[in-house]
Amino acid sequence: MALTHATQAPERPFKLSFEFFPPKSTDMEGQLWATVDDLASWGPEFVSVTYGAGGTTREPTLETVRRLIATTPLATASHLTCVSATREEVAQVVEEFKAVGVRHFVALRGDPPQGLGAAYEPHPGGFENAAALVKGLKDMGDFEISVSAYPEKHPESADLSVDLDMLKRKVDNGATRALTQFFFDNDVYERYLEAVHRAGISIPIVPGIMPILNLTQLKRFAGMCGASVPSWLDERFAGLDDQPAARAEVAAKVAAEQIADLMKRGVEEFHLYTMNRAPLVNATLENLGLGRVDEATQKQNFASA
Ligand code: FAD
Repeated sequence: MALTHATQAPERPFKLSFEFFPPKSTDMEGQLWATVDDLASWGPEFVSVTYGAGGTTREPTLETVRRLIATTPLATASHLTCVSATREEVAQVVEEFKAVGVRHFVALRGDPPQGLGAAYEPHPGGFENAAALVKGLKDMGDFEISVSAYPEKHPESADLSVDLDMLKRKVDNGATRALTQFFFDNDVYERYLEAVHRAGISIPIVPGIMPILNLTQLKRFAGMCGASVPSWLDERFAGLDDQPAARAEVAAKVAAEQIADLMKRGVEEFHLYTMNRAPLVNATLENLGLGRVDEATQKQNFASA
């Protein structure tokens, strides 16, 4: 894949990862691969591809990670959920992903097939939650395993301590990194990190950064995920409904400010929810003064990782 933004390898003040989702149409496919081509030159540590709700995108996820591994120098993780599947079905999926070169999974329970808010029922022959899935994956191969974390707690959890217990179980079973649900209040993340450390959990808790493409849509989604959207964001985007360029500029500033503030607090790794679009991610990273890397440097980084 041609990387057109070759520059000298810059000092990297932090590590990046990018999240993509499998395309649902030919148009979206074109958009995804153009985005991958563009964002690759930021030199991410790895990229990940989501697994559709209820396990619905097994084939498109497999095809996307296959193509990423086969045609780009990007270290690629596949998300995997255990909802609505027996242990044997999960094992078969894992074999398929292993066959195309996947060595890193983002292991998740998944949401109930009826949607967010419905009661979760583990499959009688399946993994009961993400901690059990992590253990199952470790039994199936020497995989790198990332998991989820929720700075504002998972909506189903009674309180934060239940969440931390689950995170600890995932770590005890072999997870070596957690990627967080998106959040906008860095104080919340910092308090969460303190609670994580008090619970004896020492893996990196990598903040998930969501550049805001559309505040109204984001609020709807955030409400379902239990993530709060502070009112100062309304003020930042006020009056910009009909001004996409100004809105994008504000969005890139907001995301860059969040990352810069987290860096001041000592955070060194960031996971960006790209929504399969490059411009906002590019503008965010440009605002931070980060340089792109050339293809040779990327290959070298991955070889030594
Ligand atoms: P777990 O880690 O098992 O649990 C999370 C919390 O919920 C824990 O505190 C636990 O105690 C509590 N909990 C779990 N089960 C119950 C229960 N039955 N009753 C009460 N509390 C319970 N979803 C997808 O479908 N595909 C993806 O690719 C995907 N990627 C994601 C990536 C990230 C970084 C994150 C943060 C989330 C992602 N999700 C994805 C969403 C995720 O599947 C949902 O949030 C799901 O509801 C929980 O999965 P988990 O692995 O976080 O659960």
